[in-house]
Amino acid sequence: MEENCIFCKIARGEIPSATLYEDEDFRVILDLGPASKGHALVLPKTHAANLFELPDETAQKALVVAKRVAACLKEGLHADGLNLVQNNGAAAGQTVDHFHIHLIPRYQNDTVNVTWQPGELSEAEKEEILKLFQ
Ligand code: 5GP
Ligand code: ZN
Repeated sequence: MEENCIFCKIARGEIPSATLYEDEDFRVILDLGPASKGHALVLPKTHAANLFELPDETAQKALVVAKRVAACLKEGLHADGLNLVQNNGAAAGQTVDHFHIHLIPRYQNDTVNVTWQPGELSEAEKEEILKLFQ
């Protein structure tokens, strides 16, 4: 538990939230500033600032929880699709430094923007990146 972490307080129930699902390790809540109807957040109850700090076991469990709640949201709200979004670092759009997964139901012709302009993969960049994994 981080002293001043809002998501620690929400995840542990110290601050009330619109909770969709809860178990020993996670709480799934509605986002206060939803991108779309049903936008929810998967919060682990133990603090990790981001994906890189998250224990492997929590990472594994988090995707299972995300999958289950995503399926309920998609079916119950008759969504046409759903994005999982997970931001790490301010440059990636992270504003709350407590790991979370966004579940964003998508509707045909909605105004949610989770897109980018496709670039080009140069030979030099490809080689540079592949080398990291050799
Ligand atoms: P990030 O930008 O860090 O990936 O996502 C943070 C998300 O948390 C945002 O979508 C924002 O609307 C949501 N959020 C921030 N503070 C609160 C809060 O106190 N309660 C809830 N339910 N959502 C919050
Ligand atoms: Zn926290």
